[in-house]
Amino acid sequence: MTLVVQKFGGTSVADLDRLRHVAQRVARSTARGERPAVVVSAMAGVTNQLVGWTDTIGSRAPDPMEYDAIVATGEQVTAGLLSLALQDIGVPARSFQGWQVALRTDAAHGKARIERIETEALMACIDQGVVPVVAGFQGVGPTGRVATLGRGGSDTSAVALAAALGAERCDIFTDVDGVYTTDPRIVARAQKIERITYEEMLEMASLGAKVLQTRSVALAMRHGVRVQVLSSFDDVPGTLVVDEDEIVEQQIVSGVAYSRDEAKITLVGVADRPGIAAAVFGPLAQAGVNVDMIVQSVSPDGKRTDMTFTVGRPDLRRARDVLAAVQAELGFERVDSDSNVAKVSVIGVGMRSHAGTAHRMFQTLAEKGINVQAISTSEIKISVLVAEEYTELAVRALHTAYGLDGD
Ligand code: ADP
Ligand code: ASP
Ligand code: MG
Repeated sequence: MTLVVQKFGGTSVADLDRLRHVAQRVARSTARGERPAVVVSAMAGVTNQLVGWTDTIGSRAPDPMEYDAIVATGEQVTAGLLSLALQDIGVPARSFQGWQVALRTDAAHGKARIERIETEALMACIDQGVVPVVAGFQGVGPTGRVATLGRGGSDTSAVALAAALGAERCDIFTDVDGVYTTDPRIVARAQKIERITYEEMLEMASLGAKVLQTRSVALAMRHGVRVQVLSSFDDVPGTLVVDEDEIVEQQIVSGVAYSRDEAKITLVGVADRPGIAAAVFGPLAQAGVNVDMIVQSVSPDGKRTDMTFTVGRPDLRRARDVLAAVQAELGFERVDSDSNVAKVSVIGVGMRSHAGTAHRMFQTLAEKGINVQAISTSEIKISVLVAEEYTELAVRALHTAYGLDGD
């Protein structure tokens, strides 16, 4: 019998009716003779509310272990409720919290990494004909405390379980019926992609397409898990994430992604001397702040210059604190920052073998009067930083320019 992992996201389990609907879907899978292991997210909006409470109860950033104790509860509720809904329609089911699996993580509370999954309890459950319903997004850390895997982490729970259980595939049921050429909520003419490579999906996810959590794609790629993204509401084929050689015809650009989760920092009047970049980025890295795009202007006099870079918006406060602490030592004039920015990216493995992709991007943005504030590239993507109010305009214009618009 085929073992499959089925993950249902927040909107798919948003209320009791939808949970009953999910139960029916799982029941159809068992009726087909499959053996599902189910992973659930919290009901839509619940994790946001829990995170909000941890932010506002005190004046300081929340203790990470207590943050986890609070935000992990959303998934515990849906795992229990879905088990009840399954039992109610005659499908034996049992809920599992992270520690009951056990899904073991490192100590990085709030963004923990999965280290190991013990499969005995789940396999015993499946072998008895009982559907395990696992609370996504959570595991158990080295000290025995609940640890969460970062926002959107139920995708990663699902893929990791599929790898550990040797499942035939990992179905990610969500509120769209697949991965699109860009976010279908922004571009109505976005088209569903039938097959996308792991590499492109990894870039799309890390550049803002939150349809899959980035880590889940990296895990799937490493373990060769067949991931399918599909709708929990409509019975239509979704998108398969596959190896490059499984794709017959390759586009130059497969998709456009955007992220509003960015902030821009400019160090004004930095000394233009060797070692300055290391002196700036070293302390940021030590504080766990990830720096992404970097632009250093030419210094007119060879002595002082401006250095601009981006960090994740949630890290902005920490980054400013770190820079304030080294300001005297590095001797720059001041730190400017701007959160009203967005990163817009075009992605495609076909870029490797085609020239002109960047030119088209800059020309398209110029025609719309959109100023590019920073640029970064890799073999298969180009990203630009623009003022946030231009996000949608830029995404739409690029989607059209690369011939991705559907009817
Ligand atoms: P879930 O709660 O099921 O995990 P998410 O909200 O995390 O769902 O992810 C699904 C959402 O991802 C969609 O509603 C869509 O707005 C967004 N999205 C962004 N980019 C894309 C894309 N390229 N293709 C499909 N969906 C996308
Ligand atoms: N509920 C968690 C979140 O909202 C995890 C997930 O949905 O994947 O981030
Ligand atoms: Mg999600």
